[in-house]
Amino acid sequence: MRLFNTATKKIEKFKPLGEDVKIYTCGPTVYGYQHIGNYAAYIYWDLLVRALRAEGHAVRRVLNFTDVGHLVSDGDEGEDKLEKGAERDGKTPYEVAKFYGDDFMRGWDLLDLVQPDVIAHATDYIEADMRAVDLMTEHGFTYETRDGVYFDTAKFDRYADFARLDLAGLQAGARVGFSSEKRNASDFAVWKFIQPGEKHIMRWDYLGRPGYPGWHLECSTIIHEELGEPIDIHTGGIDHVPVHHTNEIAQTYASYGRELARTWLHCNFITIDGEKISKSLGNVYLLSDLAERGFSALDFKMWVLSGHYQGTRNFTFESLAGAKARRLNWRNKIALTYQRGAGVSDAKGEAGNKAGAEIETGAGAKSNSGVFTEVLSAVGNNLNSAEAFAIIDNSDLSYDDWVLVDRLFGLGLIKESPDINTAQVDLIRERESARANKDFARADELRDKLLTQGIAVRDTAEGTVWEYAG
Ligand code: AMP
Ligand code: ZN
Repeated sequence: MRLFNTATKKIEKFKPLGEDVKIYTCGPTVYGYQHIGNYAAYIYWDLLVRALRAEGHAVRRVLNFTDVGHLVSDGDEGEDKLEKGAERDGKTPYEVAKFYGDDFMRGWDLLDLVQPDVIAHATDYIEADMRAVDLMTEHGFTYETRDGVYFDTAKFDRYADFARLDLAGLQAGARVGFSSEKRNASDFAVWKFIQPGEKHIMRWDYLGRPGYPGWHLECSTIIHEELGEPIDIHTGGIDHVPVHHTNEIAQTYASYGRELARTWLHCNFITIDGEKISKSLGNVYLLSDLAERGFSALDFKMWVLSGHYQGTRNFTFESLAGAKARRLNWRNKIALTYQRGAGVSDAKGEAGNKAGAEIETGAGAKSNSGVFTEVLSAVGNNLNSAEAFAIIDNSDLSYDDWVLVDRLFGLGLIKESPDINTAQVDLIRERESARANKDFARADELRDKLLTQGIAVRDTAEGTVWEYAG
């Protein structure tokens, strides 16, 4: 596996630090629905996990849920978004977090994303957060203001390195505002005090007053508790580079004197119809919006994986329709391949599950044909799934290959491939050759015959497609 590491800005050959590949993914904020842009990020990291397992690595992966402390602005000002969501929905913040967290996981399952080994809720790590702040204070990295405990970024001389920050410029551009007690513009709260009269339901006593953790702290803490630093791979969106991940690195150094992660992966943002995803543009599509228009979550996953995680991707319903057609085409190919390879048996499902289970346990993915090896090596080249998809389009895959391809991408191909019988496969093939021989009368005859059996054949500019309604 070769991966582009944000920390070095180079594509590097991935080498695990220990027996298990430790991966941490910055997870969702659970005060609202996650849109398709958010899910795109998790689809890319799902491919990362599946590909490492297919290569034979054991993976231990943690995902967090931000259920406290995510403020309206990155500058440690404004309200906690979860508290705001609670007010909006007439619920407690805990109920809000549970509601949107459950909704998020329903989407996760629809997308057939691999279950993380640990789902860590920030609110379950508050005591550990306090211990982390104690340590960084002991080591001289923090100062207190009326507003909270702040990280003094001037005390960490490598603070600007990760994101190549221009700290002087940041300082010059800083506004004097609520946090004017901050020593440097880039300083950030590791702990916030609740001011008298301030309504903040989630609160914990620390340093003799009620408060709550700063947003960036949870990730450093959860990694320390659940994985132990340094971890192998830390993933997130490009928005995380200049503030969130920069601060995670600083905190981990200040508390434990350690490097946080060896390899950093960041995905680019997707746009919709050329625009940023935003409420004001009315383009905050959810998976349920796609379903209403006839696209399954797996059609969307197909769309996401047809491009690269570092590229700027523009979502349109037209391109989604293309991905859906491609997925249907692959499922049909499987139906034909299976029947051809396995004769008259109807054990398609069972054969699929068996080969799939071997990959699931991390045994590595082997097939007797070279195609899957090529596919896996394309993915191993910094997750180039687009290239892998082109190989699949242009090769003749065996049924074994398809099983492994389906496990590598989690696209529901085997499960949803049409269950047609060998006689029907023969009819489809016969029609293909009739068309190739320009015997259109025979082709039409066969089309009508297939239709009576629930198989609708259409000839399009891209070739013949068929759908089975049986
Ligand atoms: P949030 O819940 O807002 O913290 O977002 C969850 C994840 O989605 C983060 O990793 C973000 O970087 C990512 N994300 C947000 N918007 C987009 C987008 N338009 N395209 C891709 N990823 C996004
Ligand atoms: Zn994080």
